[in-house]
Amino acid sequence: MSHMSLENVTMKFGPFRALTDLSFHISRGEILGVAGPNGAGKSTLMDVCTGGLKASAGEVIFDGRTITSCPRHVRCGLGIAQTFQIPTLLSSLTVGENLLAGHLFGHEARGTPSGIALEEILSLTRLGDHLDMDAARADLLTRKRIMLGAALATGPEIIFMDEPLGGLNSEEIAEFLDVVRHVRDSLGVTVVMVEHKTRALAEIADRILIINFGEFVMLDTPSIVLNDDHVVEIYLGK
Ligand code: ADP
Ligand code: MG
Repeated sequence: MSHMSLENVTMKFGPFRALTDLSFHISRGEILGVAGPNGAGKSTLMDVCTGGLKASAGEVIFDGRTITSCPRHVRCGLGIAQTFQIPTLLSSLTVGENLLAGHLFGHEARGTPSGIALEEILSLTRLGDHLDMDAARADLLTRKRIMLGAALATGPEIIFMDEPLGGLNSEEIAEFLDVVRHVRDSLGVTVVMVEHKTRALAEIADRILIINFGEFVMLDTPSIVLNDDHVVEIYLGK
């Protein structure tokens, strides 16, 4: 069942096309990996979905509703959340206060409180022991878990993450992937993970979308996508 879909989406910056005529759907409850070389348009694709950018042409559909022109806070109120490549935290606040801020932002955007329990988010993101720690003192993995927790606290149905594994070592990657898996399994949240670490994506994703030069290349299961000659060529050829 389609949770979100893009129909013939093009994103232009002046004359430059960062995305060209892109169409695909995201299934409810799946973990969709999005990969492609630097500059392929992955972050642009994410922004077109979450409201950071308005597509120049085409439609973005969420839950059967056209949201192409909706600003970010409206999409947040509908249940669309996002985390960024560089952790964006309220660093003068504690871990608990960061999650509370996410919760309040979601409440404000939706007009009603979400049914999500902060205790469950604390436990899923493994932040229960750090509730009163200043966010500024957290290490990179913890900062990433705080950002994920704050995004989940808005009460999303779908969460987009932009290269969440950047800067993490292999143990930390395994731990973060485990958190993401539990989030999907426990909350039923649809996850879209933009990531160039394809081996990690292969471990966690139900399907992987490859884009290159802003164009659709392939969308299929990890084993099919990552063994595809054309995909291998795109990566080796960069
Ligand atoms: P990726 O995340 O896959 O590395 P991006 O989506 O960040 O790629 O960028 C895709 C292309 O669009 C790049 O060529 C980039 O320079 C260009 N681009 C991204 N944002 C803007 C912008 N605001 N203005 C002009 N060009 C942009
Ligand atoms: Mg990017």
